[in-house]
Amino acid sequence: MDSRFCRVVETLPGLVWTSLPDGQVDFLNQRWRDYTGLSAGETTGWDWQTTVHPDDLPHLRERWDACLASGVPGEAQARLRRFDGAYRWFLLRASPSADAAGDIAGWCGVAVDIEDRVRAETLLAGERRVLEMAASGQPMAAMLDALCRLVEATIGGCRCGVVLLDARGARLEHGAAPGLPEHFVTTIIGRPVTADADPCAMAARLDQQVIVADLASETRWPADGWRQTGLELGLRACWATPIASIHRKVLGVLAIHHHAPRTPAASDQALMEQFTRIAGIAIERAQNDAALKRSEAFLAETRRLSSTGGFSKRVATGEITWSEEIYRIFELDPAVPVTLDLILTRVHPEDLPSFQDMLERQRRGSDYEHDYRLLMPDRSVKYLHVVAHANRGEDGELEYIAAVQDVTQRRLAEDALAKARSELTRVARVSSLGALTASIAHEVNQPLSGIITNAGTCLRMLAADPPNVDGARETARRTIRDGNRASDVITRLRALFGKKDATIEPVDLNEATSEVIALSLSELQRNRVILRQELADDLPRVIGDRVQLQQVVLNLLRNAMDSMSGVADRPRLLVVRTEPDQDDHVRLTVRDAGVGFDPQDAERLFDAFYTTKSGGMGIGLSVSRSIIERHHGRLWAVANDGPGAAFAFSIPERPGGISHALAGGVTDAPDLGAIWTSAVTDARNVIGTT
Ligand code: ADP
Repeated sequence: MDSRFCRVVETLPGLVWTSLPDGQVDFLNQRWRDYTGLSAGETTGWDWQTTVHPDDLPHLRERWDACLASGVPGEAQARLRRFDGAYRWFLLRASPSADAAGDIAGWCGVAVDIEDRVRAETLLAGERRVLEMAASGQPMAAMLDALCRLVEATIGGCRCGVVLLDARGARLEHGAAPGLPEHFVTTIIGRPVTADADPCAMAARLDQQVIVADLASETRWPADGWRQTGLELGLRACWATPIASIHRKVLGVLAIHHHAPRTPAASDQALMEQFTRIAGIAIERAQNDAALKRSEAFLAETRRLSSTGGFSKRVATGEITWSEEIYRIFELDPAVPVTLDLILTRVHPEDLPSFQDMLERQRRGSDYEHDYRLLMPDRSVKYLHVVAHANRGEDGELEYIAAVQDVTQRRLAEDALAKARSELTRVARVSSLGALTASIAHEVNQPLSGIITNAGTCLRMLAADPPNVDGARETARRTIRDGNRASDVITRLRALFGKKDATIEPVDLNEATSEVIALSLSELQRNRVILRQELADDLPRVIGDRVQLQQVVLNLLRNAMDSMSGVADRPRLLVVRTEPDQDDHVRLTVRDAGVGFDPQDAERLFDAFYTTKSGGMGIGLSVSRSIIERHHGRLWAVANDGPGAAFAFSIPERPGGISHALAGGVTDAPDLGAIWTSAVTDARNVIGTT
């Protein structure tokens, strides 16, 4: 070779070689030798093969043999080992050279370093693969696995792992580490995210890259723990880079380990930046997918639990789309397309007219709510509630979006509640009647036993010898007195229950109250109640229904007695007071020294069915208030300064329109008012008054 040619060959930007026709190398240029570090003695024959990456050698040999056999130029890619042991990708090209006779005289070839190109291609393909996985909703573990392998393929000789931050950002969780032994990974996973735990935790905590150039000389962490395990595995360097979301929230850490001490070069940094960006996209996407799946599952479960389905309907075309839940409610096969005719087969025949009205409303395009029933093939009935919202699409077409709820259970519960209420009302009536009957029996029993005793004494006195006529006369007189007392009781009861309808008349409230007290005397005594009556002398009469007003007083007395039934540390004082009130009203107050009530509850006491008594029904006060309001008056409660409470009503002497109201013309709580009316009827039947 002339020297000019030699100079050219040696300056060419590639590894140049020549070989004999059989493939035996007879020349390698200086670059070859410099790159591979082959000695002068290794530059001929087949020694060059020792510099080819073992994985690439079979393919390269095959290609080279094919060239030699065919005499046709060829090329192949292979990794060649550098003098320092690192491999780089090369494109090797070989061409035959012919002699004057046209026969192959030998081969010459060149190997060009394509490491950067191959790396860029690998990176690009790897990136695309991971992003495709993210886009197609692959599991996070698979994506991170692929990413780690990509890192390992790109940064030769490294071992890569990804750790994730748990939902609270407090602990590290396993992401992927296909090339790292499990027992090393477990030294890091589950650790709190604190700067002194390990490089990953520190990077996550500080949101900045942590470089451990040499595990052996590192001083930031103690020698035991992750550092010791790492060194035992032959790991010497660790680069931990935070992985962040688009909004800069730390999601995890990418950790790259090397088997030799190493600091990242600028190119390594560029790669890590790229990898963490892809990892961020993959993790965020996977987390969003998981959150979406969770919320979809949550929504589906909510829909299922609340038996709510949705549908949309395009009014112009009649095209209807149902959610799965509606198919379930209608008990129809989801494969069957929904049509109006199909829906109509399920609508309860009695609700068809209102259903048609609803369709009419749909055509008008207004929002609506509608209740209707379905009659199922097994003759069971379902109650549905629809709330629909009208939209106009961009094309101006009217479309409804609606929620349909199966409210059958609620309706059944409401019906059951209404039934239970009326049952309660009946029980309340019976139990107040029971209490009343007990006190009546007591009142009548006393004079009756007096009569029997007196009559017996009278007989004995007449049978004596001589007969004691004076004594007999006296006992006969007492018999008559007791008889009159019993008769009085009956008369009072007649007065109380003897009227069929509300009778509007002037009522002396003092007299009416005294009658009620008289009927309750023995019960008051039994309960050791000290009764003080403060009835005003000059009380004007009021216009109203005597019996109904007495029922109110009776109820207030009984409540006052109940409130004091457990009082032992003070007198059970009950004050009944009547007085003229302002604006031509008359007021009656029943004050006790009982348990009282929390002033906050002052209004609740009057709610129907509000009771604090174990055997209470909670209707007395609500009925009493409705009676007083029918008298155009007011009934209220005040807690005493000391123990106990006062219940009072004030009614006008001459209210306008009262007769109409008392005859049932007012609508407030008419059902509760009716309870008393029927209780009176029942009592009348028991007592036998007409
Ligand atoms: P019931 O007596 O069946 O409970 P009411 O409607 O008559 O029904 O009374 C409702 C509630 O009001 C009672 O359970 C009790 O808590 C309260 N209440 C009524 N009267 C008094 C009173 N004099 N002192 C304290 N609380 C009372």
